[in-house]
Formats: sequence, C-alpha cells, structure tokens
Amino acid sequence: MTNPPLRIAVLKGDGIGPEVVESAVEVLNATARKNSLPLELVPLLIGFGAYREKGRTLPPETLQEMKKCDGWILGPLSAGSYPKDDPDYPMASGKIRKTFDLFANIRPVRSFRKGSQEIDLVIVRENTEDFYPDRNLFKGYGEFWPDKDTVLSLRVITRKACQRIADTAFRVAAARNKKNLVTAVHKGNVLIEGDGLFLGEVRNVAANFPGIKMKEGLVDSVGMQLVLAPESFDVIVTTNMFGDILSDVAAGTVGGLGLAPSLNSGEYHAMAQAVHGSAPDIAGKQIANPAAEILSTAMLFRWLYSRNHMESADKTASDIEKATIEALRTEDRAKLTTDLGGKASTRDFTSQIFAHLDKLD
Ligand code: ATP
Repeated sequence: MTNPPLRIAVLKGDGIGPEVVESAVEVLNATARKNSLPLELVPLLIGFGAYREKGRTLPPETLQEMKKCDGWILGPLSAGSYPKDDPDYPMASGKIRKTFDLFANIRPVRSFRKGSQEIDLVIVRENTEDFYPDRNLFKGYGEFWPDKDTVLSLRVITRKACQRIADTAFRVAAARNKKNLVTAVHKGNVLIEGDGLFLGEVRNVAANFPGIKMKEGLVDSVGMQLVLAPESFDVIVTTNMFGDILSDVAAGTVGGLGLAPSLNSGEYHAMAQAVHGSAPDIAGKQIANPAAEILSTAMLFRWLYSRNHMESADKTASDIEKATIEALRTEDRAKLTTDLGGKASTRDFTSQIFAHLDKLD
C-alpha cells in the first residue's frame, strides 16, 4: 500500500525568506523524488505578503491550513517592522509557537569546515514563555506602560514548561549518544525564583536519565565558555531568552547565522525555521546562505520520521543533510556564499547541493 503524500506547508516569510525557502523547497523536492517520498507542498500566506493581501500578517486561513499539514517550513519574519495596525502585531511566529504549543526549539550548532575544530552541540531552548511578551500570557501582551516613563516586562516560568524542555534535552542527549552531557544554563543567582524553579525541574528530570551527566552554568559564564571552548559542550538546555541569545553566540563560533538551523517542535507539530532573521540588508540580492533553512528542513523530516516511521522520510532527511554538508565542506571556498567568504549566489550554492545529491545512493 502506498502512503498518502506528506502535506508540507511552505511559508516564505519576509526579507531573505523567499530566497532561502525556495532553495530549501527545491532541495526537498529533489530529495523526496529520489527517495520516492510523496509530498504535497501547500504554499501559505504569512508576513508582509499576507498583510498586503489580507490586511494581517498571520491570517486565520493560514492557521487553519497549517493544522491540516504534517509539517511546516517557515522563512524568517520581519516582525519588528510590521505595521502597528496589523491585528497579529507584534509577532506572527510567537503566535504560531503558542497556538500549536511548539514548546521546544532545537538548535544544533556544528562546524562543517574541513580541518576546523570539532564543534557539535545542540541548544534546547524553551519556546513558549519567559520574557517573551508575545507568547507568555493567555491573552494580552506581557509588556506594559504603567506610566509614560516606565515599562514593566513580565517573565513567566512554569513548572510544566521547565519539566518538558528538560525532558526533551535529556532525550536529545541520549539520542545523540556523544558526550552524554546536558548543561542547564540559568541566572539563578539573580532570577532566584524563576530560574530556581527551572533548575529544580532540570535536576528532577536528570534523575530519570542516569546515563547522562548534568552540569549547571550561569548564562554569562556559559556565554564566555561558548566562545572559548565550544567543543566542550554537548546539549545545552535553557529558558527562552537565554537560548535565543546563546544560539546566535554559538552560531558565531562556526561561521555565522547562515549555518544555524532550527526546529520548533511540540507533541503534534513541528516547524523548520532557521535561527536567522529576515536580514533586510541582503534581501532580494540572491546572496543569502540557504544552508540554515535547508538543514532546518532536514530536521523537520527527521521529526516526521519519528512520528510516522516512514523510512523514506528519514532517508530524505539524511540525504539533504549529507549533500548540504558536502557542499559546505568544499575545498574551493569561492563556491560558498559571501557570508562564508565565497562568491556563490544563493542559487549557485543550491546547485552545489544538487551536485552532491546526485552522488548519493
Ligand atoms: P530581523 O530584523 O528579521 O531580525 P536582522 O537583520 O536584524 O533581521 P538577522 O537576519 O538574524 O537579523 O541577521 C543579522 C545579520 O546576519 C544580517 O544583517 C545578515 O547580514 C546576516 N545573515 C543572517 N542570515 C543570513 C544568511 N542566511 N545568509 C547570509 N547572511 C545572513
């Protein structure tokens, strides 16, 4: 019996989004075809494109259609520049994460360059609460002005969110089976209550994973360690804002945001979304590095395999990953995009991936 096609929503987003998502979709299509994985791609409106057509950046039709899809590929969103009259202001991506309870943001950081120091770590970032005002309340916005000279920002930390992000991190460490080490990152010396709750839950969860060591580190000190000795980390688990900041720091150790993929995942849904933003400075020039969005797409297919056990989804994920990594490991640095010191356009680099895909079994 043949499987029905996997329905994958494609949300291009803003800035460099259309360019990098287009590359990711081309690579996905070719790899899925090679592995006889039936796909149905469902383009959906989001961001400025949606605002122009529907008057809002995250139309209800988009959310409705997303529900009917098996997975989603999202490009970056220029949320900071959305018009104030947008009913979805300020953050479509926060709303998606909250609506579909995408509580875990998995952000691997790897060095791909030949001969470079081996860096291979994963940041497991809580995704639904903390200081992020677009998602930390049931209704309303978690930042407000009690008077014209004062802003209050609300931080929310719940036992449930800490417990499940810790559980995810230990499972990631066990599945990787590398250093078998989870580092819980916090600022518990200042945020005594919130990070105290977080740390307590990570310690409780650690007890369920006797094969995995747990370390604890203050976010400032871990930030420095990430710069000095990124190779010493395995899995980092942390709250939303620290995870957001540390993942850019960690990406900097391997060549920048063009190489930083991520998956937003929950119990029932997952969304590929590169760590980088919409990079308006380079948008529309065909010079963005699509690797982060492509590797995020591979992560989505690995997640789909964990749910549907379709071998062809797993093979699609590993083929995308292998071909992209081979393209990144080229000896001829001119074949890389400009962020990595090369001369290749987004399209040229995507063609390199195709060439490597052709060489795979
Ligand atoms: P936003 O406002 O959407 O957050 P931003 O420009 O402030 O966008 P990022 O998009 O995360 O923040 O990127 C910071 C810088 O890193 C960009 O100015 C861009 O030059 C570079 N950059 C980010 N992503 C890529 C990429 N995929 N390829 C090449 N350079 C990138």
